[in-house]
Order: sequence, then structure tokens, then C-alpha cells
Amino acid sequence: MTTADLSVQDPAVRGQAVRAPAPRMERTAARCLPAVIPVPLGLTTAFIVRDRGVLLVDAGNPGDEPAILAAMRRAGIRPDEVSLILVTHGHPGHYGSADALRDRTGAPVAVHAADAGAVRRGVAGLLSSARIVPRLIGFAAGRVSAPRPGGIEPDIVIESAADLAVFGIRGRVIPTPGHTPGSVSVLIAGGTAIVGDLLSALLPGGRPRLPFRTGDPAAARRSLRALLAFGPERVYAAHGGPWSGSEVSRRFGNGW
Ligand SMILES: [Zn+2]
Ligand SMILES: [Zn+2]
Repeated sequence: MTTADLSVQDPAVRGQAVRAPAPRMERTAARCLPAVIPVPLGLTTAFIVRDRGVLLVDAGNPGDEPAILAAMRRAGIRPDEVSLILVTHGHPGHYGSADALRDRTGAPVAVHAADAGAVRRGVAGLLSSARIVPRLIGFAAGRVSAPRPGGIEPDIVIESAADLAVFGIRGRVIPTPGHTPGSVSVLIAGGTAIVGDLLSALLPGGRPRLPFRTGDPAAARRSLRALLAFGPERVYAAHGGPWSGSEVSRRFGNGW
């Protein structure tokens, strides 16, 4: 019983109103801030961000698409509601199922320019020259969807920080190079950051640290300071976390 239910005093309207106000309040609450839903996939984690649109951050390893689609189903999200698949960087545990998920959702795949080459080559080192995919939205009808191990042609190549409003998401993607040259993070309204592999933990529940495979640690620290300047309250990563923004700040903030 919610306060909305209790406020309905008139027996004449009770039959309709008792059911109506509570769901309306829930929907309103859900719209106040985007919902961030982690999707654990064994060694890695993808994220569903639900706002007016639905953003998928990372796509797990090849074969992870059923688990990601199941998580969407549990959240009441239809595949065609996904407005963007954002790959945080060009490692296979992050784009592995992007191609399959693009086929199932019709959403475009976005990757930063500096990691687009790695994503195109894929783990099998295949080139995608035989596959013609327009780079803008609205291409679904012409898509060739032959399954290939690895390589995927991004629909959108990110060059700089970008607002996600056009995808129905209150948030922005910002380049956070360091782990790879084309690593990006997402800042979601309400103070949530999703950072891919900019940070990771050695063990579940472990402290935030730079992953062993950090191509340019100095750049990663600069990226972290830039991210922390936005004052995130909660920081999600693909391997380990989440951590509070203050914990990340203590380890990587100014003066670190
Ligand atoms: Zn990585
Ligand atoms: Zn990773």
C-alpha cells in the first residue's frame, strides 16, 4: 500500500483509482533518473541504461547476446527499444556480441575512432571489406548479417565527447584514453559513471585500480581526473566495482 493508495478516499472512484495512481507514480519515479542495470556475464559486465531510450554499454564476449537479451526481458525492455550499443573499447570482451545484438535490436553500434580498427579486425583478424554497412542510423533494411568471429563495422565512430540526448538518454560519452587509445566512458544523469576498463579490481569487491593491460597509465590517470571533475557518485566498471565516486577520488583524484 502506497501513500497514493491511501489518499484515495472517495468510494465512487476507488475501483479505478486504487489501481491507477501507484503505477503512475512508479513510472514517474523511473523517469526521474535513468536506471542503470548491470548485466553480469562471468568475467565481464555489460550495462543497460534505461531512460526514454535504452543504451547498451558494452556487449560482452561472443555468445553473450542471449544473456543480455534475457536481462532486457527481465527489465521489461523490448529489443527494438534499444537506441544505441556503445562499445567502451576495442577488446573482445566488450564488443564480442555487438554484431549479434545489432541484428536483434536494430540499434547502431558506436566505437571511438582510435579503437575502431581493433573492432573491425576482431579476434580473428578478419577485415570487413566484404561487408557494407552504412554508418548512420536507419540502415537496418540493407544490413548484411553473416555471422563472423570477431570483426564488426561500427555504425557510428566517436571522435569527441558527445551528448546522448539524440538517443533518448540523459548522459554523455566522453573519451577516457589510457587502457586503450579509444576507451570511452559514459556519464549518466544522476551521477553514475560507466568506465569500461579504465578501472578494474583484482578480485570481486576489490579496490579500484588501473588494469594490468593499461596501454598508457599516465593518460589513464588524466582521464580519471577528467572523469572525477564531473563528480560521479557511483562508478561502474566491467571487471569489479562499483565504487563510490569518493573512493575513486581518494585514489585517483587531484594530487595522485
Ligand atoms: Zn579492455
Ligand atoms: Zn575488459
